[in-house]
Amino acid sequence: MARYRGPVCRLCRREGMKLFLKGERCHSEKCAIEKRNFVPGQHGQSKKTKKLVGYGLQLREKQKTKRIYGLLETQFRNSFEKAAHAKGITGENLLGMMERRLDSVIYRMGLGTSRAQSRQIVRHGHIEVNGKKVDIPSFIVKPGQEVAVRETSKNNPTILGARDATAHAPSPSWMDVDRDNLKGRITGLPKRDELVQIPINEQLIVELYSK
Ligand code: SF4
Repeated sequence: MARYRGPVCRLCRREGMKLFLKGERCHSEKCAIEKRNFVPGQHGQSKKTKKLVGYGLQLREKQKTKRIYGLLETQFRNSFEKAAHAKGITGENLLGMMERRLDSVIYRMGLGTSRAQSRQIVRHGHIEVNGKKVDIPSFIVKPGQEVAVRETSKNNPTILGARDATAHAPSPSWMDVDRDNLKGRITGLPKRDELVQIPINEQLIVELYSK
């Protein structure tokens, strides 16, 4: 499936905040937001920060959310349509669905240092759900399902390295994670206040797509 292949830190600079797209680097002094927190481009430094309202604000919120989860417009729009047709509040459904994507679950389990790395781990066939190999990053994990690193991948240095690097990160309350055995189970639906590290006003995305 298509994905963004351009410079990643540029996305954070465009949003004016850390989106944590590069794993350990995001917590180091090499982070581009620490060094160059202005809009990318030739005139970025001289651009004044305008106070956004209305459409501009809604658009930035949508772009930020897409970038956090590494989705392109069509994929994100399709997820929104599914969220809108599900029971409950559309914005919360959307974020809950993003969090239960298999690549996001792997990231939350601490088996990838970023969502991009987790996506690659899934794509390379290292993951199984309820004992069956799944290599589709957009697979939505349901409550009760077990996600695990496949037996043949248990010594994979990328996965083991990520587990060590994220040892300090707490696991969300909606999953039981057994880091020693590289597996976890989704115990319920994600809670709104635990969904993302970055503030997102999902209502603005709903308003944007409802026009
Ligand atoms: Fe780059 Fe991570 Fe910093 Fe964003 S938070 S600018 S991805 S290092």
